[in-house]
Amino acid sequence: MTQSLHSDAERAAELAAENRALRARMAYMLEQAERNHEIMMRHQAFDLEIVGATSFPDLVGSIFRTLPAISELESVTLALVDEDADIRTVMEKLGVDFAAFPDLLFVSGIDQLGFEVGARFAHASAPKPVLGMFDAARHGRQFPQPGKRLQSVAIVPLLRNKRIIGSLNLGSVDPTRFTPSLGTDFVEHMASIIAICLENVISNEMLKYIGLTDSLTGVYNRRYIDRRLLEEISRARRQQYDISFMYIDIDHFKRVNDTLGHGGGDEVLREVANRIKGELRLSDALARFGGEEFVVLLIDADLDSAAFVAERIRAAISASMIALSGGLQVSITGSVGVASLSGTGEATAEAAAKELIAHADEALYQAKSGGRNRVVRYSAE
Ligand code: GH3
Ligand code: MG
Ligand code: MG
Repeated sequence: MTQSLHSDAERAAELAAENRALRARMAYMLEQAERNHEIMMRHQAFDLEIVGATSFPDLVGSIFRTLPAISELESVTLALVDEDADIRTVMEKLGVDFAAFPDLLFVSGIDQLGFEVGARFAHASAPKPVLGMFDAARHGRQFPQPGKRLQSVAIVPLLRNKRIIGSLNLGSVDPTRFTPSLGTDFVEHMASIIAICLENVISNEMLKYIGLTDSLTGVYNRRYIDRRLLEEISRARRQQYDISFMYIDIDHFKRVNDTLGHGGGDEVLREVANRIKGELRLSDALARFGGEEFVVLLIDADLDSAAFVAERIRAAISASMIALSGGLQVSITGSVGVASLSGTGEATAEAAAKELIAHADEALYQAKSGGRNRVVRYSAE
């Protein structure tokens, strides 16, 4: 009897222990489920945030700011394949400050991304993410910022239409965070959304760029200058400096077209654009206003310094013969009208811009009627 009682008590204790263990396990699983739910919600919010990004800096800014936080990672970097540096060139022209994104990397080929695919990818299946221990020799390029003490990494391909456009690189100080045996569905899903967003904003920026540049010469177009001029006038007034505007028109260009044909004329226009560009600072903006007319917007430059630059441009245009692809050479000259706007004006920015352009145009007209191949400054008299 006592034996049985004893074993009943033992049994009860056993059951109680089992019960406690089950409860603990249940609590743990609930906690995990809650945590997973929370992570999923954070990722959903992140997806919405990046899908809503309208510009390239907006998107990469979001990725670098938000992803490390919600994924609890010490390092998140992006490598983009940019074979001919087109992406970089366009973004720079649109004013993207790459210094603000030290974790944004550009590579000239997919072989530099760290996947073992190379040229075989065209025929083989898409590359899978590479997960494992951090190795400075292998991953130093993907994680250029030192001092992070990374232990494990995931290099995830960014794929669009079976093309590798780059890689999303995740780094953790936890050696067990990314191991080769870990499933990759989650990171692949994340990378696929990032890839779509990247492709989307990059093509938007390209379109924006095309809308603001002259396809013949690659310099800006009138739309760009009209917009930029308004911005610069407002800024010049806030910071109290002068801006200047230059109208440049090639002399007797009809003759060039008549003797060399339209194709030859186009080549001359390209070379003239290059020669003008060679005399400018980075902060100056050069545009083709149509035909054989170029304009230059000079920031923080008074009439004297603008006239000095204009004289250099005039000299550069006529300095040497322009060699054409057909073997012919042609000598040309250009006339320049220059006008300035002080940073203290009262008129609206629109009115001031109109007036500045009209003044430069008037000075150009005087340069033409005065005999061409010369610089004339606008003066009110
Ligand atoms: P001026 O010294 O008075 O400026 O004489 P001009 O012959 O340059 O006269 P004008 O500015 O009136 O003529 C501009 C010519 O430029 C007219 C047109 O044949 C030519 N032109 C305009 N756009 C283009 C272009 O995109 N390509 C080429 N090749 N020629 C162009
Ligand atoms: Mg002309
Ligand atoms: Mg003209």
